[in-house]
Amino acid sequence: MIYLVKIGFLPIRIWDILDILIVGYLMYLIYRLLRGSIAFNIFVGVLMLTMVAWLVNRLQMDLLSTVMEKFVEVGVIIIVVIFQPEIRRFLLFLGNTTLRQRSHFWERLLNRNFQATPKKEQEVMALKAVMLRLSKQRIGALIVLSKNANLEGLINSGVRLDAQISEPLIESIFTKESPLHDGALVIANGKLQWASSVLPVSDNPSLPKSVGLRHRAAVGITERSNVAAFVVSEETGSISFSIEGKLDRKLSEDGIIELLKRHYL
Ligand code: ATP
Ligand code: MG
Repeated sequence: MIYLVKIGFLPIRIWDILDILIVGYLMYLIYRLLRGSIAFNIFVGVLMLTMVAWLVNRLQMDLLSTVMEKFVEVGVIIIVVIFQPEIRRFLLFLGNTTLRQRSHFWERLLNRNFQATPKKEQEVMALKAVMLRLSKQRIGALIVLSKNANLEGLINSGVRLDAQISEPLIESIFTKESPLHDGALVIANGKLQWASSVLPVSDNPSLPKSVGLRHRAAVGITERSNVAAFVVSEETGSISFSIEGKLDRKLSEDGIIELLKRHYL
């Protein structure tokens, strides 16, 4: 064994010095991490820790090895706690995706026979008509359409409706005097489920500057979940549509019907 120096009975190897230096550096990293605290930084940190743990084990640097062991022991719990919202969102998204794929599979298998029931067709026309009327009156609206997505955890507030789809009801929800006009109307399983829901707002920098919070909320929910969202602009009366975090603006009447058929039926 090569000793660099020997203090009394304590032999110090080059690896011991390196060991201490690296622990110091790691502490510095943790300090920096806590100062910045962004999910990406944490991820890079975890990656580095894993690599270092492996390395010190191979080099038999005992002090560092013990420290790393402790980290790894509680590491999984720490990661789960820190990334709890992200993990939850990710799992929900995975579940929704597989559910959607499964329903597509059955639709194809059953030749889409059960899709366009007269009731559904009627509802599509009702939704289209109410959006056009709101647009003409310059009444702002935000409508989320969900086929089977589990929105729990994404939509945190709102008023439970559980009502049949009805043109006058939707129109009266969004009229400015209505206590429910602020926020989004969520339609799922052929029913008006929630009104006045606050949605997560997208911070996508590539959205046009002119796009306000209502549109950003529509993009925000479709980024995080397999739902579609329609927006009627209060300022311009134009109707927009969002899916998978993309925003389609200034839709025509035919465009609206087409999108409703694709994402509502
Ligand atoms: P418009 O073209 O209708 O003006 P916009 O995209 O410019 O829409 P804002 O003018 O900021 O958006 O619209 C504000 C309205 O959007 C609020 O009154 C509220 O009803 C709705 N809104 C804002 N943020 C959210 C949110 N996080 N979730 C749901 N609805 C929201
Ligand atoms: Mg606005």
